Amino acid sequence: MDPSYYFEADPLRTKAGADVPIALFLDFDGTLVPIANDPGLPRLSPESRQLLASILECGAALIAFVSGRGLRDLKRRVGVPGAYYAGSHGLEISGPEARFVHAGAVVARPAIDALCRDVKRAIDAWEGVTIEKKAYSFAVHYRNAAKGAGPFLHGLLGYEVASRPACREFATIVRGKKVLEVVPLVRWDKGRAALWIADRLRRACLPICIGDDSTDETLFEVFRESGVTIRVGRSRRTSAAYYLRSQGEVRLFLEQIRARKETGSVAGLPPFSR
Ligand SMILES: [Mg+2]
Repeated sequence: MDPSYYFEADPLRTKAGADVPIALFLDFDGTLVPIANDPGLPRLSPESRQLLASILECGAALIAFVSGRGLRDLKRRVGVPGAYYAGSHGLEISGPEARFVHAGAVVARPAIDALCRDVKRAIDAWEGVTIEKKAYSFAVHYRNAAKGAGPFLHGLLGYEVASRPACREFATIVRGKKVLEVVPLVRWDKGRAALWIADRLRRACLPICIGDDSTDETLFEVFRESGVTIRVGRSRRTSAAYYLRSQGEVRLFLEQIRARKETGSVAGLPPFSR
C-alpha cells in the first residue's frame, strides 16, 4: 500500500492514546541530517541536538538512534546524552543500562578486517570512492565516483567475498544509497536491534520509527503493526505506513512530539535516568 503523508494522516491522534509513552527509533544520515557527498561531514545541528535532548528531558519520548555508522562515530555525531545508540546496523548498542555486541560480529571481524585492507589497497586511489572502516564492517562509498562505479564495485566485492572461505562463511554485502557495505553474515538488522532495545525499556511504549533507506525497511517491518512507521522521501517500495518529505519535516515532527508534552496531551514519563 502507498504510504500516506504523515501530517495529513496524523496517526498519533488515533494510535497514541493521550497517555501512551513514545519510543522514537531514528536513523541518522538522510533522516536527521541531509546526506552529504563526504560521509565524514554530517553532524547533528546544535538546534536539533537541543530539540532531541529536550524531548528526552521533559519525558515526551525515549529515543534510540539506529544507524549504519559505527557506534563511536554515531555517538560523536549525534551527541544527545541519555539516549540509546545502535551502530553498525544494530550490531553494537549502548544506552541506559544496555550494552550489546552481536557475537557473530566478533567472529567475523578478522576476516572482514583482512578483506578491508586488501580492498583498500586495490581501490583506494579511485577517484570519488571512499572506504570507511568501522568496528565490525567497512563501507565503500561511491557517491562521487563515475557512473557505473556501483555495479562494478558490487561485482568486485562479491568476487572477493566469495573467493575467501572465511568471508564466504562470515560476511555478506548490503547495499544502501550509493554505498556498499561488507558486514557480518548474521541474522540481525536494525529491526531486530530496535526490538532488543524496546525489550529493555521496562514499560510499554508506542514505537515510532523514521528512516530513509533500504536498511530501514527492517525497522518498518517489525513495527508496522504495533507502531508508527515513517519513511523520509516518498516511495512505493517501502513497508512504512507514512512518509515525510524531508529532514526539515522530520524536525517539524519532532517539535510536535515535544509540544505534546508541553501542552499536557501526554502523561509524563519519569525523567530519563542517565
Ligand atoms: Mg539513512
